[in-house]
Amino acid sequence: MSDHYTANPGRYNTMPYRRSGNSGVLLSSLSLGLWHNFGDVDRYDNSRQMVLTAFDNGICSMDLANNYGPPPGSAEETFGRIMQQDLKSHRDELFISTKAGHLMWPGPYGEWGSRKSLLASLDQSLKRMKLEYVDIYYSHRYDPNTPVEETVGALIHAVKSGKALYAGISKYPADVAKKAFAMLRDAGVPCLLHQIRYSMLLREDGDNLFDLHRKEGVGCISFSPLAQGVLTEKYLHGIPKESRAAKESGFLKVNQVLPLVEKVQKLHDIAIKRGQTLAQMAIAWQLTDDRITTVLIGASSPDQILENLKALNNTKFTSEELIKINKILDTPPFWDGMA
Ligand code: NDP
Repeated sequence: MSDHYTANPGRYNTMPYRRSGNSGVLLSSLSLGLWHNFGDVDRYDNSRQMVLTAFDNGICSMDLANNYGPPPGSAEETFGRIMQQDLKSHRDELFISTKAGHLMWPGPYGEWGSRKSLLASLDQSLKRMKLEYVDIYYSHRYDPNTPVEETVGALIHAVKSGKALYAGISKYPADVAKKAFAMLRDAGVPCLLHQIRYSMLLREDGDNLFDLHRKEGVGCISFSPLAQGVLTEKYLHGIPKESRAAKESGFLKVNQVLPLVEKVQKLHDIAIKRGQTLAQMAIAWQLTDDRITTVLIGASSPDQILENLKALNNTKFTSEELIKINKILDTPPFWDGMA
């Protein structure tokens, strides 16, 4: 990609956009997350090309957090640089998020869910990204030691002050999420999205939360759909040198990968029969589920983004395939919401 960027005029031709809960917001079926591979330790040109490849293919939803890097804060700085260099004139086509809640700076205000922490962090994030506002501001994790009213109050303030257009929560247990949704709705700032970890391999309490989201009219953004890369071919024959599991700065550890390889091989066999890569099948499996608004992928190269986008070409599963997949995943099949 040359230094001068011109956006692909066909960028909206193939991406389906989905409505987030009961809101007016449509999001690209895939979102791009900047958790890994956008920090100071990474090559700027690769990070830039990933963001531009995503944008050129209709991915308008970009997910950040104060602590993404490493070092913390540097992914927002990288993104700010790309915004200035390439995407400034496209600001209104982008749906940009950030979050606060995990450790960001030393002392008692640098993490968790106090009003002090959330509002100070938002100001820092806007400076790093050189933005006037973010599209959605999330509480990154539930803080059991702060009244949820205080955390939610900070989100409401962020929206009412114009520094965020919408509010969201991430990784909240269902009972607290329910409370947060009610408080946000009562304040006239309905929760736009709940961010949850969800993949073929790690469903956590997703299945319980989906009912709540539907009842409350809240959208759902599923993160780590490839289980950080485990749901690809890359670990079938060992741990490649450049993979996340091999990197010291990565959050995926070799001992998390190895016990899953047998299961992944079986899923891979099904993907091949469907004419897809395993990554594409793992994403398609989520896209076929209308309880998920947008699937939040990560990548370490533009080519991975292009490969993963091809998941959109085949999102239909036969009931036979679903039965086989569920048998491998060892969980009861769920048909509700499956196309
Ligand atoms: P994924 O599960 O999509 O994993 C992405 C990783 O998988 C890539 O970095 C790459 O790793 C590998 N990969 C992707 N595509 C391919 C492919 N086609 N072939 C081979 N390998 C591939 O998502 P992430 O875990 O990165 O999470 C996505 C986003 O979700 C984050 O960036 C963040 O925005 C959000 N998130 C939110 C959290 C929260 O607390 N709310 C927590 C975690 C994530 P490799 O380096 O090995 O190539």
